[in-house]
Amino acid sequence: MSRLHPGGLVVEPKLREECGVMGVKGHFEASNLVYLGLHALQHRGQEGAGIVSTDGEQMRSHRGLGLVGDIFGPTQLTPLTGDSAIGHVRYSTSGERSALRNVQPFVVRYGGGQVSIAHNGNLVNAARLRRELEQRGSIFGTSSDTEVILHLLATSQQGTFINRLVDALLQVEGAYSLILQTETVMVAVRDPHGFRPLVMGRVGDAVVFASETTALDLIGGTYEREVQPGEMIIVENGTQVLSLSPFPRRERKACVFEHIYFARPNSVVFGSPVYDSRFNFGQALHRTAPADVDLVIPVPDSGTPAALGFAFASGLPFKQGLIRSHYVGRTFIEPSQQIRDFGVKLKLSPVRSAIEGKRLVVVDDSIVRGTTSRKIVRLLREAGAKEVHLRISSPPIRASCFYGVDTPTREELIAHRLTPEETCAFVGADSLGYLSLEAMHNELKGKASTWCDACFSGEYAVPPENDAERPQLDLFGGASPDED
Ligand code: AMP
Repeated sequence: MSRLHPGGLVVEPKLREECGVMGVKGHFEASNLVYLGLHALQHRGQEGAGIVSTDGEQMRSHRGLGLVGDIFGPTQLTPLTGDSAIGHVRYSTSGERSALRNVQPFVVRYGGGQVSIAHNGNLVNAARLRRELEQRGSIFGTSSDTEVILHLLATSQQGTFINRLVDALLQVEGAYSLILQTETVMVAVRDPHGFRPLVMGRVGDAVVFASETTALDLIGGTYEREVQPGEMIIVENGTQVLSLSPFPRRERKACVFEHIYFARPNSVVFGSPVYDSRFNFGQALHRTAPADVDLVIPVPDSGTPAALGFAFASGLPFKQGLIRSHYVGRTFIEPSQQIRDFGVKLKLSPVRSAIEGKRLVVVDDSIVRGTTSRKIVRLLREAGAKEVHLRISSPPIRASCFYGVDTPTREELIAHRLTPEETCAFVGADSLGYLSLEAMHNELKGKASTWCDACFSGEYAVPPENDAERPQLDLFGGASPDED
């Protein structure tokens, strides 16, 4: 799928990606450890994954479409030799969702040797930079914004790899948590706002970088610290670590949605535990929007910590009124209008004995288009719920994310189009309550960060440059993320 941009050239739609990255340097089983870490980061992207290893001379890579466990087995992992490896899991929402060429890490050879790159985030000026590069003769092999960084690096007039990389990154704007690897050096770097997470830890002497601490936990590593916003950490000569701050300082903008929905609840993200944030959001939600009901139930899995917080604060009983199947992929297509509820029924089954005749508070983490909530409310009523009061442990999502979280165009966001009262009527609930922006920030106070809340407030620290940077979901019929 392609479209015309203002210059009249045909460009492919920009991919908007949710991703996870991982890197291990200085361990004889580097690629195996990255493989395990990617399992722990699988929630950050389910469409494709890849690992690139190096033994100091050659790079070897394997990438595939689908889940980490399906892509990699001994046949794929054994050849990935060397004590250095980086990996990536990816989910994109554009029409090219299944293109292998867009699966990272990318490996290229430029004048200075080989380099591989894994990127989590979204650049907001990539379309313009790409156009300029193409006008100067660059030939792109993917439709990913990440490739722009490689072209800037390859065409830089600077001498060393690190200087070239800094030169390249000084030209890009937006969100990037990157892990790069040459034959001898690994680099982890975060954009100056620090939108997306990236942590550093160790397994023995080996240095590990990962999007979330859960990847470190899985491989028996220890968490040392975040890669700081604007920091570039270089690992060379085995496991020697050097930290640079080559970029102008900017206000920190940690993505609040990581704590609301995206990160795994057992991770420490931006220096604070995600589970605690979600539990606290649930408690605050009860203070802001209580309900006279018999029972609290979560929308599993992502709504569960907040529902527990709500139940704890209210003193109401907590039950699992919905059971989630963990075997339904993202690829299920609802076959027709008449049986359109099957999507949610495949994933969520009501527990009739728990909810029949009961007045329920149902806690979910967010409403995006409203289609999931509507189906869930119907499902619960069909299973005998007397009243269904929906409580959402985040503020209404009113604006698209340009920094790496999959939200659709603003027009598709129900909170952009409808008031909370109208949304309540649309989803068919007896009442609807959101966490206010103020209450959300209150719960995050005292944590190390100032936060990016653009999806709720519409205030962008780095505005997208033009329409070419905007998400392209509308080109594909607005399929609901409908995912957890
Ligand atoms: P919707 O039907 O569009 O309102 O989707 C709401 C559901 O999607 C909620 O249950 C959320 O947990 C989930 N959700 C929120 N953000 C995302 C995202 N970026 N990707 C996938 N699912 C999401």
